[in-house]
Amino acid sequence: MNIFRKPALLSILLLLIVFGFENQPVLAQSSTDRTNFEVTELQAIIVATLTGYNEEGHHISRSTPHERTETADYLEQTFEQLGLIPLRDNYKMPNVNGLVDLLLAPYKGRNVFSVLKSTESSKEYVLMGAHYDSEPETPGAIDNASGVAVTFAIADLIKQQNHRKYNYIFVLFDQEEDDEVGSKAFVRFLKEKQYKIHSTHVLDVIGWGDSDTLAFEAQVSDDFIERMYRKTATRLDIPLNITGGRGHSDNKSFNLAGYHSAGFWDDNLTPHIHKPSDTYETVNFDRLRLATYFMFELLTNLDSSYDEL
Ligand SMILES: [Zn+2]
Repeated sequence: MNIFRKPALLSILLLLIVFGFENQPVLAQSSTDRTNFEVTELQAIIVATLTGYNEEGHHISRSTPHERTETADYLEQTFEQLGLIPLRDNYKMPNVNGLVDLLLAPYKGRNVFSVLKSTESSKEYVLMGAHYDSEPETPGAIDNASGVAVTFAIADLIKQQNHRKYNYIFVLFDQEEDDEVGSKAFVRFLKEKQYKIHSTHVLDVIGWGDSDTLAFEAQVSDDFIERMYRKTATRLDIPLNITGGRGHSDNKSFNLAGYHSAGFWDDNLTPHIHKPSDTYETVNFDRLRLATYFMFELLTNLDSSYDEL
């Protein structure tokens, strides 16, 4: 039994949480004004649901095949509740060494995604995503229920826009904690379907700590995508450190596949990472709101970064 099958308990928990936050009744409004940017209620519900308590009083995790299936079902329901069509990439991936497949079963999982079409019949897709699995026996609030919550909030905000220059793919990856298997499978899916990808943006380990002092970090694959992040940070006056490298999260899968790719997270790593203490209570929803604001502004002003090309 888990929280997804306990609607009464869940409703009470969510009511308590929502009341504990703000009196804002509005889930999300499309706005470029930082002070009016409201996504906290939706994000609190998503993080609470993903990290809730089971009937033994332990935090649930999203690690075993059963837990990941239950979580993927919840993610599909959430897309539906936001008026978006949930799609599945059910995959099987071999182990890194093919001979191991003779001993261990290949990886199996489900990436959940939704596509928002351009209002200009663009052929290009902008991808934003976050992994939904966690380490065994850990609730994974910052790693990475918070990234999932940002992805849903931005999908909801961009859906409300009258004009979209690009198509958007919002994707929740399975099995990041197993060598980014889920996002590797999604790269394979994108190549098979011949999607023309503009850029990819992955969130992970985001939304904890003091919102006034911590910077965000963008790990970028190249100058093209670095410019987007740098210009957004300058325009919004949000502290951001830019780094390079192959990738610390699912951005690695996209980087190695040759896409313009970025990973976006808190500059300082939470001390609770991969521990049972990575709970709902460690999430700073004001900071998560700031991260969402940053990504929304970046993803809806992509062309401003062409100015200096
Ligand atoms: Zn993670």
